[in-house]
Amino acid sequence: MPVKVVHVVRKKSRGQHAWVFSNEVTETEGNPGPGDTVQVFDRKRLLGSGIYNPHSLIRVRLYSEQNEELDAALIQRRIETALAYRKASLPGENDFRLMFSESDRVPGLVIDKYGNHFVVQTYSLGLDMRHELVVAALREVFDVASVIEKNDFRLRDPEGLPRRAGVLFGTPEPRIVISETGVKFYVDPAGGQKTGYYFDHRLTRRKVRQLSAGRKVLDVFSYTGSFAINAALGGAESVVAVDASAAAATIATDNSVLNGVADKCEFATDNAFTALTELDARGRQFDLINLDPPAFIKAQKDKDAGMRGYRQINALAMKLLPPGGILVSSSCSHYLFWQDMLDMLVAAAQDVGREFTILDRTTQGPDHPVLLSMPESEYLRGFILQVS
Ligand code: SAH
Repeated sequence: MPVKVVHVVRKKSRGQHAWVFSNEVTETEGNPGPGDTVQVFDRKRLLGSGIYNPHSLIRVRLYSEQNEELDAALIQRRIETALAYRKASLPGENDFRLMFSESDRVPGLVIDKYGNHFVVQTYSLGLDMRHELVVAALREVFDVASVIEKNDFRLRDPEGLPRRAGVLFGTPEPRIVISETGVKFYVDPAGGQKTGYYFDHRLTRRKVRQLSAGRKVLDVFSYTGSFAINAALGGAESVVAVDASAAAATIATDNSVLNGVADKCEFATDNAFTALTELDARGRQFDLINLDPPAFIKAQKDKDAGMRGYRQINALAMKLLPPGGILVSSSCSHYLFWQDMLDMLVAAAQDVGREFTILDRTTQGPDHPVLLSMPESEYLRGFILQVS
């Protein structure tokens, strides 16, 4: 049981949000230090147990509504609960996001499972200090081949955490083959972006596969070709993919060979805005375009500039569609809420003077659950549009 105590006065509107900000704290007891577990009271009522970080604006990250310790047993229990949900919602899958941070009730802990290889990202000091517990818990639940940490990202800075990457346990493989709804992909956790693969779009990829038959497909921001290859396997006539990263294009090409669709796929390394402008200048058209840009809005203050970026790239894509063409447009910016995204798409459609029907909406898959009291944990949104 945490013995140190943090007292807060929280506005009603903050509910039981899992982040306690420094300006909510009124007093501490027992001199809590960096990474200590604490009990949090809001005017004498127990809000829950959390991890303390005096160096962060997020002063406490709550992991439970009870008074309980963040020990190996709790981490293992959380992993087992998360695993049970993944198994039920993703039958037959072995590769998925096992832990999605606050949503799986271990704040700041992300784990992607690639078979028996695990890639950990920690966004909180408390979990960073408890890496050994995480590895021990994983080894209780799985026959672990390796665990690496991929902690060389910007969001560690506000927590006062150093950027680093390396092996926590076992012998990692440089290139792992994973499977997602029967499609195979090479993943390079150490050299790739983030943990190496973006599991969050698995539902969107399935939809793209279903819609691609007989279509000329363009996959923009294609990374290692996950959408492109799904389109090819779904019977696309041809697939052109564009991404700024040459390293990603190399893996994407290998992925197309791995799935027997290399003859249909062409991976280009280019800036998406330039590439789409040039394709339009050359009069090229595509029957299905997938747009999966990086987060253009990383913070509230970037919202206007980011909205303009989304509008511009969507309008560029819309111009390349013949009548009946389909646009699968995604955003991974939390701050681009559903209505903002709709407004942006309406504006882009107006820019190009075309009308669209909404066929479907897309969002993050079941291995990225959303915590009810924490809207930040919902970040992936998309629309599937068909032009008249
Ligand atoms: N669709 C991919 C994930 C895309 S992540 C998948 O499902 O796996 C965003 C990608 O955009 C990254 O691969 C990054 O290299 C690329 N990127 C970022 N800025 C870009 C730009 N201006 N032009 C083209 N690609 C860009």
